[in-house]
Amino acid sequence: MSEETRTNVAEYFGEDVFNDAVMQERLPKKVYKELKKTINDGKDLDPMIAEVVANAMKDWAVEKGATHYTHWFQPLTGITAEKHEAFISPTRADGKILMEFSGKELIKGEPDASSFPSGGLRATFEARGYTAWDCTSPAFLKHDSAGTILCIPTAFCSYTGEALDMKTPLLRSMEALNTQALRLLRLFGNTTSKKVTASVGAEQEYFLVERDKYLKRKDLIYTGHTLFGAMPPKGQELDDQYFGIISDNVGKFMTAVNKELWSLGVSAKTQHNEVAPGQHELAPIYNEANIAVDHNQLMMEVMKKVAEQQGLTCLLHEKPFNGMNGSGKHNNWSIVTDDGINLLDPGKTPHDNIQFLLVLTCILKAVDTHADLLRESAADPGNDYRLGANEAPPAILSVFLGEQLQDVITQLITTGEATSSKQGEVMKTGVKTLPDFMKDATDRNRTSPFAFTGNKFEFRMVGSSDSIAEPNTVLNTIAAEAFADACDRLEKADNFDDAVHDLIKEYAKAHERIIFNGNGYSDEWVKEAEKRGLPNLKSMVDAIPSIVSDKAVKLYDRFKIFTKAELESREEIKYEEYSKLVNIEARTMIDMASKSLIPACIRYSKSLADTVLALKEADVDYSAAKESLAEISDLIADAKNALAKLIDDDDKGIAMEDGRDKAVYYRDVIKKDMDELRAPIDKLEMIVDKEFWPMPSYGDLLFEV
Ligand code: ADP
Ligand code: MG
Repeated sequence: MSEETRTNVAEYFGEDVFNDAVMQERLPKKVYKELKKTINDGKDLDPMIAEVVANAMKDWAVEKGATHYTHWFQPLTGITAEKHEAFISPTRADGKILMEFSGKELIKGEPDASSFPSGGLRATFEARGYTAWDCTSPAFLKHDSAGTILCIPTAFCSYTGEALDMKTPLLRSMEALNTQALRLLRLFGNTTSKKVTASVGAEQEYFLVERDKYLKRKDLIYTGHTLFGAMPPKGQELDDQYFGIISDNVGKFMTAVNKELWSLGVSAKTQHNEVAPGQHELAPIYNEANIAVDHNQLMMEVMKKVAEQQGLTCLLHEKPFNGMNGSGKHNNWSIVTDDGINLLDPGKTPHDNIQFLLVLTCILKAVDTHADLLRESAADPGNDYRLGANEAPPAILSVFLGEQLQDVITQLITTGEATSSKQGEVMKTGVKTLPDFMKDATDRNRTSPFAFTGNKFEFRMVGSSDSIAEPNTVLNTIAAEAFADACDRLEKADNFDDAVHDLIKEYAKAHERIIFNGNGYSDEWVKEAEKRGLPNLKSMVDAIPSIVSDKAVKLYDRFKIFTKAELESREEIKYEEYSKLVNIEARTMIDMASKSLIPACIRYSKSLADTVLALKEADVDYSAAKESLAEISDLIADAKNALAKLIDDDDKGIAMEDGRDKAVYYRDVIKKDMDELRAPIDKLEMIVDKEFWPMPSYGDLLFEV
């Protein structure tokens, strides 16, 4: 659709998606029906069907200007990968080409996989990796400077079938959840629901800065966050940014992002300014987990692209600026049947909703048992700057239930029986002209990492730049395990009603320790959590071992999510990723300090020294200038010492063999050295003449978009 006619969203929403409507229109009825059986019921895909679908997909894409297709996949880098293939096929005798796309090309791709992280699963000389069409997530068109590309969402596996991506385990976990949740529903007499899926809505936080300023900061370019920078006079202390009026430039950005996302069938819904200056958020309407994962990747990609087109840069790093709020990605998760039943919906009177209480206590059990895995699923090097700092959830996992559910659980634990549910009261505004309305039975708690919010859980630890595939894989799997355990018991019970009642009580009692409704940011909570025996995995390096614990290996093997080899490969990749990223940060600091920041300070001291001399010659009081000069010289000396130590230690780090020890070294030694270098330079920024400072300040970056 041309730009001028793009006014009615309803008309162009999903126009770049090979969605259900297009399939119905373009596929023969029989083919459409067969494909839907594969998509909805997991039936094996017939190659003949794939052939017809491929052809229809190609015709549709070419009509819309596509020249290439790509298997779009999500390797263990956390971002997406694509390799474009033109549709052309020069088979004609007259030297002209045909536009072709076969069923085989749709179903299977074979990118040279040797350069993606595989953690020992595949030696580089055994480079074979395959991408396999994920027909549960629709194909779509991307229009950019590379042309119009038909993107086919795929899973990425090695020659021997091990998952080399984020998508495959996620799909496996969705199947596990489906199977176990259906078992549970059947026990409660549900015979109509055919499928259960995890529904996910991810709220994406981000920063926008002007592109020309971004390009003057090597730290932003190489690492996505600032490694130096003194606090500006104003930060976020006035709370005047949150939900504040959206500036013209930001508004233009949001409008363009929405339009692109809507064309791609991504239901971008809620947008607002966030807590920190320069920080914003965009949330879509929730979707099935695998589609939500794809859509979140698209959202990040579109944001980056549009920002660039508008002279801006979108920062997705978890902590772009010290002293300001970092960015997360609240992962809203619920469990929904194909006929619209949300297993996490408590109804008006949760105390007598036995199915809900069983589901809820199963989730408590799941989170308590696997708190370490959930924590790990949100670990990335950027998030280490955020979790546990004063604005993000702590690194300790706990569940917020809110007043109403807490009361029901307390009744269960103390009396063995829940007989009432607290109800929301009428909210009295105290103003006659304002309507009175029913308030929710429960207030919110922003400090909880895993909060029940009415009919879903909100997992708030996830970092803004991270894929949401892993957190949802963990959530689905641990829920599947808890449901399976419960069903194993209940299916054998003579008296179902008694057995389920006992089980709910048992789970509530056994896992009460994971519930915390208080202030998660407080120091008291850290102490209390320790008393309760809850893990406090402060850094990514602390969290990684949980994925290869016996408990994890058993869990993932039981539901066929990961093999032990796949888990070990991921462990290896994560340690390596951590060391590499910190090393890049260290080298960026070395580069900036040696080639730009310290020389600038020296230039300024030279000019100060000249001033001192001139003042002295003119017989004017020069004591202030001399004092500044001394202060600056001291700080330069501190910076130079810290720089020398960082260079030395980083050289040692580079020489170490990849693995846990190296990651620990980077966390404990290099990060400390980096702080030591940053401190004097941030002080220098506050006293060196701005004319001499070689890059934009926090204030320049944050307040001028
Ligand atoms: P908040 O006020 O906490 O930001 P919202 O109601 O705006 O919460 O929802 C935030 C996100 O949660 C959105 O992406 C929304 O689509 C998603 N969401 C809402 N209901 C569900 C649900 N039942 N399951 C999963 N996600 C949901
Ligand atoms: Mg929210």
